Amino acid sequence: MESQRVEDLYKSLEEIINTVDKQVVSKLEIDKCKRIINRLSSFSTECEVCYQHFTDLEKHVTSLKDKKSELTADDIKHHKQIVSNISSHLQKQHKLVPSGYYLGIYMSIGTSLGIVFGLVLFDNIALGLPLGIGIGVAIGSGLDADVKKKGLSL
Ligand SMILES: [Zn+2]
Repeated sequence: MESQRVEDLYKSLEEIINTVDKQVVSKLEIDKCKRIINRLSSFSTECEVCYQHFTDLEKHVTSLKDKKSELTADDIKHHKQIVSNISSHLQKQHKLVPSGYYLGIYMSIGTSLGIVFGLVLFDNIALGLPLGIGIGVAIGSGLDADVKKKGLSL
């Protein structure tokens, strides 16, 4: 992937940030888009699907940019669809892990365990819950940090 195309895409995103309503910008998850663009461009030499995704994203971002402040709910929905399609390809084919992925999983395991601990050990859910969540957060954020260290975070 030529770096010029990546740079142009970044510029278009910046332009969208500057012209579109702040609320809409947050819905577009621009930071996530940038991470995705980075990944696609690095995989595009070896993966045709990534190359195709990059080209589609280019077209899509350009059309968003041209609409300026007139983005509709449908545009945003369409955007999220595209981003999630690409994310799932990157996760399945390239073994990337979304940021905060393990934290989310272990938080919910911790919450369930906390309730069990609370009931079995203390006979009090309120005592077990913070313990379970604490353990979940510790394990989850540890695994997320590990993913980041290995350069596999999306
Ligand atoms: Zn790919």
